[in-house]
Amino acid sequence: MTTPYDAIILGGGAAGFFAAIRAGEENPGARVLIIEKARRPLGKVLISGGGRCNVTHACFDPAQLVGYYPRGAAALRGPFTRFQPADTVRWFETRGVTLKTEEDGRIFPVTDNALTITNCLEESAQKAGVTLWTQAAALSVKTVSEGTERAPRFVVAVRKTESGLEEELETRSLLFATGSDSNAQAMLSGLGHTIEPHVPSLFTFNIQDPRLEGLAGLSVPLAELRLLQADGGAKTSVNPQRGPLLITHWGLSGPVTLRTSAWGARWLHECQYQTGLLVNWVYPLTTEKVLEALQGYKNTPTNSRKKPGAHPLFDLLPARLWKYLTEAAGISETQNWADVSKASLRRLADELSAGRYEISGKGQFKDEFVTCGGVRLDEVDFKTMQSKKIPGLFFAGEVLDIDGLTGGFNFQNAWTTGWHAGGALLA
Ligand SMILES: Cc1cc2nc3c(=O)[nH]c(=O)nc-3n(C[C@H](O)[C@H](O)[C@H](O)COP(=O)(O)OP(=O)(O)OC[C@H]3O[C@@H](n4cnc5c(N)ncnc54)[C@H](O)[C@@H]3O)c2cc1C
Repeated sequence: MTTPYDAIILGGGAAGFFAAIRAGEENPGARVLIIEKARRPLGKVLISGGGRCNVTHACFDPAQLVGYYPRGAAALRGPFTRFQPADTVRWFETRGVTLKTEEDGRIFPVTDNALTITNCLEESAQKAGVTLWTQAAALSVKTVSEGTERAPRFVVAVRKTESGLEEELETRSLLFATGSDSNAQAMLSGLGHTIEPHVPSLFTFNIQDPRLEGLAGLSVPLAELRLLQADGGAKTSVNPQRGPLLITHWGLSGPVTLRTSAWGARWLHECQYQTGLLVNWVYPLTTEKVLEALQGYKNTPTNSRKKPGAHPLFDLLPARLWKYLTEAAGISETQNWADVSKASLRRLADELSAGRYEISGKGQFKDEFVTCGGVRLDEVDFKTMQSKKIPGLFFAGEVLDIDGLTGGFNFQNAWTTGWHAGGALLA
């Protein structure tokens, strides 16, 4: 005996809730069910943004906004014209959640507490008449077509994890909002969808290098990173990325590292996170400009007796890093500027503007983490988030091959695609 629902949503995360709430609000009395396998829903929202939940980003121009998505930019352009960060802010504010924008554009609840967001979503779902099952895992989905029916019915097998009981549910409107869950992706493959393989995005770089030793915590406000291919050439599809760079105990982090990891996610996975990296610590200066500055300083008579390592030249470069870079360029502690050879000067210019480091692995960025990969985007109609292969099957959030840079863009993908799916589920 199967129980019929008007819409079933697999996954009680950000995308699933957003879709369910819209479907419930716009279709009073409809039987909308969220099935969530975890003990409590919205688990990632709770731990997001270091527990503060970076809800979205203050970027209100869809054309500019898509530039923050290494995968999914073209597909999201249309959906963002109808639901974008300004709509997200309005959505939460009309439900009593006040948001604030930080200097770098990230938007958080004023409470700095992710619970504010999860409470709002749970209350809104309840008011919209949405039923939520937790500790209920969707095990399989099959389609049933009868006679001349254009769209199939979906039969979802669900196991209640606490009791171990299994039951079958039926619907004509099924939304996969299952994030990067591999079992759910396997179900979708079984239904005929193509799944781009999942690999991590938004991570830090492990680099063991004497030039970085003991410098954890130091940062430069604007650096440029370029990933190198095995032949030493730059990886042009990823490079260059620019922004603040942070030295950690394990290597490099900070916005520019995360950005490089996101754009290079697939390629870095292919090379097993082992490749060369060029760092320009003094961007926007080029090697030639740096060399000119070094030569000018060396040739100034009042500097000739100064020790290079003890007198950093570039204001924004931490003094200890400068000292290590001079050593790496072969300039000893006892040398004066006047004694620095042309070759050492050139090496120092290279160290500063194009220092080569070896990435030996990836580290974790605690505040945000996503995977790239998921349902292939050309198999989805982005006006409704409906499958182009199976009518009545919908997608929202990270289950799609979409991922954004850090800063609230990943939730914005969940809100936007969830909102569109929610509007179409029962249309
Ligand atoms: C530590 C961390 C911090 C983050 N911080 C931020 C941030 O501050 N800002 C930002 O924009 N992004 C952030 N992200 C990314 C963001 O959390 C995700 O992009 C977003 O949660 C994706 O939402 P979703 O609903 O698509 O998927 P998910 O949140 O992954 O939800 C999917 C849900 O489906 C359930 N599920 C899966 N399979 C089944 C099944 N078979 N049956 C039943 N249920 C199932 C899962 O248990 C899960 O609850 C962070 C991610 C992490 C890991």
